[in-house]
Amino acid sequence: MEADVRYEADLDPGFLDEIASLPEGERIRHCIQCGNCSGMCPVAPMLEHSPRRIFAMIRAGLKDEVLRSLTPWVCSSCYRCTVKCPADIKITDIMYALKRRAIASGTLPEDSDAHRFARLFTEGVCKNGRTHEMGLLMRYMAFHHPIAMMKQSGLGMRMMAKGRMPLFAHKISDRDHFRKMVEKALSFDEMEPGSSEGGAL
Ligand code: SF4
Ligand code: SF4
Repeated sequence: MEADVRYEADLDPGFLDEIASLPEGERIRHCIQCGNCSGMCPVAPMLEHSPRRIFAMIRAGLKDEVLRSLTPWVCSSCYRCTVKCPADIKITDIMYALKRRAIASGTLPEDSDAHRFARLFTEGVCKNGRTHEMGLLMRYMAFHHPIAMMKQSGLGMRMMAKGRMPLFAHKISDRDHFRKMVEKALSFDEMEPGSSEGGAL
């Protein structure tokens, strides 16, 4: 078996400090590598690096690999890991922070446009107050995967016929209030060290 050799020159020793400087991020230094987070993560079978491993990689300074990992993008933000972490590490929030850093630095997962899907999802929610599956899929698939969209159009039509995917977006009633909340949240986001174009992701 070929050894996976890492050289010190490839590491970023300041990466741990960078993540620890996030609000409540200091707790990351207390990770005991128990694996609780990975054990209860519902999407763990789909992750190239489990949450436990991501934290080990952050501590090791493998910044480039962590930011290129699909793990934060596949994370469904269920917060199960955060609730059960014995070290009280805000795991889900750190996943968001990693996505923002990946976008800001252009260090994105290769062969994946998960970041584009995430941005379209966020834009849709900011606009309507809730997601609109049909609009999201149309925008994402038409621009990025038009052939796959044509192949799956039959499935989409069947879902529409059964009322599982409405044609028109259902908007919340008080969108002005919601927009102010989003703007306020974004102003907090801008205060986060290292955050720039990540927006509400
Ligand atoms: S549950 Fe918490 S302490 Fe345990 S490996 Fe995950 S992050 Fe580390
Ligand atoms: S918040 Fe993300 S990483 Fe944590 S258990 Fe849920 S899906 Fe897994």
